Amino acid sequence: MQRYFVAKEQMNDHMVLIHGEDVKHITRVMRMTEGDQIICSNNADRVCLCEIDRFEDDQIVALIVEDLPSDSELPVFVTIAQALPKGDKLDYVIQKGTELGAAQFIPVQGDRSIVKWDGKKEDKRLERLSKIAKEAAEQSHRSRIPSIDSLHSIDQLIARKKEFDYVLFAYEEEGKSGQHKKLANVLAEAKNGVSLLFLVGPEGGFSAAEAKKLTGAGFIPCSLGPRILRAETAPMYILSAISYYFELER
Ligand code: SAM
Repeated sequence: MQRYFVAKEQMNDHMVLIHGEDVKHITRVMRMTEGDQIICSNNADRVCLCEIDRFEDDQIVALIVEDLPSDSELPVFVTIAQALPKGDKLDYVIQKGTELGAAQFIPVQGDRSIVKWDGKKEDKRLERLSKIAKEAAEQSHRSRIPSIDSLHSIDQLIARKKEFDYVLFAYEEEGKSGQHKKLANVLAEAKNGVSLLFLVGPEGGFSAAEAKKLTGAGFIPCSLGPRILRAETAPMYILSAISYYFELER
């Protein structure tokens, strides 16, 4: 069944008002009519089964049939901070990371990021990435759309440390000293409801200066195992490990 996200103010106790692109999708792509059912989420605390009641000029009115359980969110809030990778890999990270339950993405300008964002085009780029996240959230039956934050420097990311219960960075050098336990140790200690910020490097990895600065700021360097993962694979490993630990094993 098709799912749509609406702003909180578009959903009240009895009905949902659907606007914009979703109206086109429902009418032109899905060719739905009165009586057809859809699922709507207010991207916060409600997911409802709805029945299309009427089509108005620029909106669709759907009546709420019943509230549905929203159990498709990870029990912990995971923010993936991704040092800008090349090409369209960030699209991939956001699409797959959304399917795997990330709550937020923060693009980061790493020392070794080849890609440099043109400030003037950043808004357009973030809009496009948000659309990828919305579509992936609908496809994966999430009840929340992950947020995409603006581009951060490493220093700006470090300055936000206190917003999170745990701050970690994926650092393959950790593994070289046989240290593969830190991620498992953090997950074993973390309780449902905590927030974790996980920073992943670009194709060229973190510079020694970045690693020193991050460790000095209290970011936990974590091995993701003995193999070297691509920059776009590492976040998938992290989110899968967290999902397995909190959703399947417990
Ligand atoms: N040093 C890597 C190499 O030799 O190719 C380059 C970096 S790797 C391609 C991209 C990023 O993925 C790294 O900066 C790190 O954040 C993460 N990563 C990849 N494999 C990892 C591992 N085994 N442990 C921890 N982080 C890893």
